[in-house]
Formats: sequence, structure tokens, C-alpha cells
Amino acid sequence: MSKLTRLTVLGSTGSIGKSTLDVVARHPEKYKIVALTAHRQDELLFEQCRRFLPRYAVLLDADAAQRLGKRISAAGLETEVLCGVAELERVATLPEVDAVMAAIVGAAGMPPTLAAAHAGKKILLANKETLVLAGHLFMDAVHRSGSALLPIDSEHNAIFQALPNAYSGDMKQSGVSKILLTASGGPFRNTPLEELKHVTPDQACAHPNWSMGRKISVDSASMMNKGLEVIEAHWLFNAAADDIQVVVHPQSVIHSMVQYVDGSVLAQLGNPDMRTPIAFALAYPERIESGVAPLDLFAIAKLDFSAPDFTRFPCLGLAYQALRAGGTVPALLNAANEVAVAAFLDHRIAFLDIPRLIETVLGKVSRAEVRVLQDVLDADAAARSAAQEWIER
Ligand code: NAD
Ligand code: MG
Repeated sequence: MSKLTRLTVLGSTGSIGKSTLDVVARHPEKYKIVALTAHRQDELLFEQCRRFLPRYAVLLDADAAQRLGKRISAAGLETEVLCGVAELERVATLPEVDAVMAAIVGAAGMPPTLAAAHAGKKILLANKETLVLAGHLFMDAVHRSGSALLPIDSEHNAIFQALPNAYSGDMKQSGVSKILLTASGGPFRNTPLEELKHVTPDQACAHPNWSMGRKISVDSASMMNKGLEVIEAHWLFNAAADDIQVVVHPQSVIHSMVQYVDGSVLAQLGNPDMRTPIAFALAYPERIESGVAPLDLFAIAKLDFSAPDFTRFPCLGLAYQALRAGGTVPALLNAANEVAVAAFLDHRIAFLDIPRLIETVLGKVSRAEVRVLQDVLDADAAARSAAQEWIER
């Protein structure tokens, strides 16, 4: 009896995009793909078009779009191939689309996600950068248009599940005393500090529990990912920085918790597989099968917890600092981090340069208020150029 949900998947060739299509393929009677988008991976996008027969496929790269167009017509498919940034916003706001999976990586994902919010679409939000950059504007758009907003990030999805139904956005009124945001600690949780100087991109991307894109993998290794998630939780759940406690939990079985004033702590557990939060968000408020194996508590046997180490992971402290400063500072933090991570993946800077670069940029580019989107875009551009300067120094 549930009706067909028509979906746009922004970033369909990425880690989250592929997991989304995996869940969708299990329920063809429930979900129909209207549009798929990617940066430049035309081969994979072609395979996805053949399988899911979307109305539109968007590529940012013109050569890749041309190649895709040729293959689509040779295969006799009816998918229309589009190219360019503006087309991302178009497919995120089409009248025939019910829900948008926002799974582009980085600040590039913000404009189409914001557009989907203005258009009142149901938003499945993986792109945490939208909230880090423009949390206030985005949440405003969601409330005004009446969009349903479902967090995909596993921690925020867990918190969403552990909060009261129809959470009003008021922690006090709901009897919530703290949000306990779990963190695996990444691949360098126990690496001697001295060795962190020399770690390589491949070592940083070898996450012990999760398989993810390279950018978020490096963020997990520096714990900037957790810092961005603190900011994300602030906007999603209207929680102050002091009410969000990071808890290191190396097994990644508890995906986060909510602590209540009566002493109750509610947790969501599961295997570390993003298809669980994706299936939850797709079907909400129903539940559907996701392909994730049942949790084997006997095999896991024990769960460990510890406090985060702010000396080992300065990025986490920088993110709390940016959240407290407010205005454009989280956008500066995010932009500096994106430039730093790209340079690290390119072997142009060392792992430990990432927090140094961010701190320098935060000291150099001044804070402004966020009134309109342009304030965010200006901050993003200023931080990127300051970061590039530091790298080329
Ligand atoms: P990924 O690198 O695997 O995929 C990124 C996708 O975005 C690809 O389809 C790529 O073609 C597209 N893309 C890249 N740059 C683009 C640009 N400039 N313009 C348009 N499209 C572009 O990334 P991912 O790991 O799937 O992460 C996607 C988002 O989800 C990120 O915001 C990340 O923080 C968030 N997230 C990911 C995971 C995970 O398990 N991978 C978990 C939680 C949150
Ligand atoms: Mg996460």
C-alpha cells in the first residue's frame, strides 16, 4: 500500500551513492530513480543508468558527459544527459521528484542540497558540509518549506532514532541532557605521535571499520570528521556545543546515544554498514530490509569507551572552537580542511600539517555573520585562497 517514492541521487557513483542504489535495487516496487549525478565517472554512471533507467544523468565534466551521451544513445536508453553545476540544482528540485539523497562530497554538495530544501523535497542528508557551511540557512529552508529531513550520517541517524518521536528541537523540553556522539578513533587511535609525522594517504584511508570515500576517510583519521559531526549535530538537533560529548568507541557498533535527565541512555546499535541508515531514511517511518547482516553480539563480545584525546587530534578542538565562534567560522574551517586534505592526498603536505594549516587560516581570515548565502560563499573562497597560499609558501 505504500506509494512509489521518486528519487534523485546526488553523487550516485560515490560510496554513499552506491550503497543507496544497492538498497533501492532491493525494493523496485517502492523506489524509482529519476536522476543520478556524478563528477566525472561516466563509466560507472553508464552502468547505473542501464540498471536504474533514470530520466536524467548529470555529469560535471563536459568530456565525460559527451562520452556518456554516446554510450546512452548507442545502448538505446532514454536517459537525458545533462552537464554542469546548474543541472544539479535542476534535478534536485524537479516537480516529479519526492526525495533527494544528498551524497556529493564537500562544499560542492551544498548548493543543490539547499535548493532541494527550498523546494520542499524529502532530504536524505549525507553531505554534512551543507550543515557545517550553512546550517542556519539550510535549517530555515527546511522549516519554511516543510521538507522532511533525515540524517544519513550513521551517528546522526542513531541520535534521530534515539530521540523522542516528533522531537521538537528543544532538548530541555524533551528531557534530553546530552548527546553522546561516538567515534571509532580512526586508524591512528593508538599510533605513536612520532609516527604520525610520516603517515601516508593510504594508511590514513585504511579505516578499521568503515569503507568510505577518501576525503571522509582522511577526516576520520584526523578526527576532523567527528568535529564536522559535532557541528552537524548542533544544527540537526539544536544542541549547544557543551551538550555534545564525543565518546571514543573503537568497535563502531553503537552508532551514538542520547542521555536523558532520568538517567536513561538510549543507543542505536548495528554493524558498521551505511545501508542501515540509508534504508531507515528511505523508508521512514516504516522499516525495510537493507542487505545488512544481523548484529552478532556474541562475536563482538565487548564494547570499549574512552574520552577523546584533543592533543593527538587537534582538529577536533578546532571544530568545537569554530562552532562556538559561529558566523562564517565553520565555513572557514571546512574550506581550509578540504584544501588541506586534497593536498595531503596529493602528497603535497604531511598529515600533521592539516591542523596547522586550518589553524593558520582561522587566524588569518576574519569572521563574518551569515545573513545570506553569499556570506558563506565569500568565506569559503577566502579560506581556500589563504589555504593555497600556505601550501605554496
Ligand atoms: P565519495 O568520494 O565516495 O563520493 C562522492 C560523490 O560526489 C561521487 O559520486 C562524485 O562523483 C561526486 N562528486 C565529487 N565531487 C563533486 C563535485 N565537485 N561536484 C559534484 N559532484 C561531485 O564520497 P562519500 O564517502 O560517498 O561521501 C559523500 C558524502 O557523505 C560526504 O559529505 C560525506 O561526508 C558523507 N558521509 C559519507 C559516509 C560514508 O560512509 N562514505 C558516511 C557518513 C557521511
Ligand atoms: Mg559519521
